[in-house]
Formats: sequence, structure tokens, C-alpha cells
Amino acid sequence: YDDRDGFIWMDGKLVEWRGANVHILTHALHYASAVFEGERCYSGKIFKGTEHSERLIHSGKLLDMDIPFTVAEIDAAKAQVLKANGLTDAYVRAIAYRGAGEEMGVASLANPVRLAIACWTWGAYYGDAKFKGAKLDISKWKRPSPETIPSEAKAAGLYMICTMSKHAAMAKGCSDAMMFDYRGYVAEATGANIFFVKDGEVHTPKADCFLNGITRQTVIGMLKDMQVKVHERHILPEELESFEQCWLTGTAAEVTPVGEIGPYNFEVGELTRRVATEYEKLVRA
Ligand code: PMP
Repeated sequence: YDDRDGFIWMDGKLVEWRGANVHILTHALHYASAVFEGERCYSGKIFKGTEHSERLIHSGKLLDMDIPFTVAEIDAAKAQVLKANGLTDAYVRAIAYRGAGEEMGVASLANPVRLAIACWTWGAYYGDAKFKGAKLDISKWKRPSPETIPSEAKAAGLYMICTMSKHAAMAKGCSDAMMFDYRGYVAEATGANIFFVKDGEVHTPKADCFLNGITRQTVIGMLKDMQVKVHERHILPEELESFEQCWLTGTAAEVTPVGEIGPYNFEVGELTRRVATEYEKLVRA
């Protein structure tokens, strides 16, 4: 992704895509002192763009990082980089990180907080899963306790277990992995939240040790408007067998039906299709 035309916004100005580099002694590269956002722009408007800017600042605070830009400045920077690249339908990636500084060690307070924003076109996250349902592996890695790491942050360090889970899933021909949490409850996929349907009602893991996705919250709101009952609760592995439908939510994933999780099968049912369609309408409204 480094050798191409385009522009990336870095610390207040647009730089050539090929020149958007950081020094090898960037603190974040060694110690994962970085938080980021994934957003989608639809027909020239970022869906919930301001909420994403707010979450970025909040994630930074959880990692002792004060991002030196306001929500309004971050929103403006995203608009600027989209325009510079001539994109109206794109994925937007903002990343705040501790750069190279006066010192190099575990403590990062002497390392300046940097902010960069890139954007590029990105189609369906799970390819044709939208129609037939994605195939998910069950990961051996568990989502950590909020006493181990600030799990509500969208922090780079939390993605190591996601990357390893996804590699193992891909090796088995799956498109993603479902992870349990440190207590053994169903948690989420490696880059998306998860929902289940049973007897016309929706069940989704309580977001108490993983990212409470903006798409997740949007979909819960949509379901409530549709008068569908939503249970946010702890879900045990043995319950997986009893669910009829399943879908994933995320900015990149949007609403993606799930057909299989390990040995369990789900139908791409009416409610799943309806939620996916309504979400598509909403993001372009
Ligand atoms: N969980 C993880 C681990 C993610 O990476 C994402 C994508 N940001 C989500 C959930 C969904 O979050 P959102 O709906 O805000 O994109």
C-alpha cells in the first residue's frame, strides 16, 4: 500500500502518498502506542464521522495520549484528504500514535502524539458473504479482561490477537474468526461485532470487554425502531447451537450474514436480510 499515487494527511498537512513515512524509532512501532479509526464515506458523507473522531480522542485518552487536534479539526482533515484524493465513496483510516522523540523506552510521555489520516476505496469486507453468509472459525485466543488492557479503546495493541486469529481462520478456509472472551462468553469477530437471532428476537454479547462498535449501536437502534426485541447479554458457547441466524456488524463489514461458525450453521434469514438492507439505506440517507 505504500507505492501509489495520492495524498495522506499528516499532522496538519497533506503529503504525497509515497512520502508518508515515519522514523524506525517511532514509539508506536515498538510498543503499540497507537489508536485508530475505520470509517466509511458514502456519496461524499462519512457515516457518523464525528462519532468516530470523538472515539479516536477517547481511545487516545485511555492510552495516556492527548491528540493535539479537536473533533472539528479531525472532521475537517478527513474531508480534506477525501477531496485531495478525489474520493466520495471510500474507507477512511485515522491513526494517532506516539512518534519518535527525545527518549526511547516503555514510557512514551517524551514522544509527541502524531495524527495521520489516509483514505482509499474498499469494497465488501467479506466478498460475496453478503449473499451466502460468511464462514467463521472459532479462535483459540480470548478477548482480554478490561483489567488487563483498556478493552473499550480501538487500540493497535488489541489487534495482535485479532491478526493471529484471522491467520488461523484463513488457513482453514474461513473468512474470519469468532472469539470468546476471558470468561468464556461469546465476544466478537476480529474486526466486527456479532448478533444472533432466535425465535424472532435478537441476542448480542454485552460489550463489556470489547469494542462497542458504532455499527453495533446503530443496528441495535434500528432493531428497536423495528420493534424487534434485543437482548444484550452474556452468551455461552453451548447456546450457539440454538441460534437460527447470525450476522456481523462493523464499519468495514457493514452488516454481513454469517453462514457457519465452526460446527454450527445459520441461515441467511429474513431478519438478517432486512437489517442489511435497512443499514445500506441508512448510511446513504
Ligand atoms: N470490533 C473490532 C475488533 C473492530 O475492529 C471493529 C471495527 N472497528 C468493530 C468491532 C466494529 O466497530 P465499528 O462498528 O465502530 O466499526
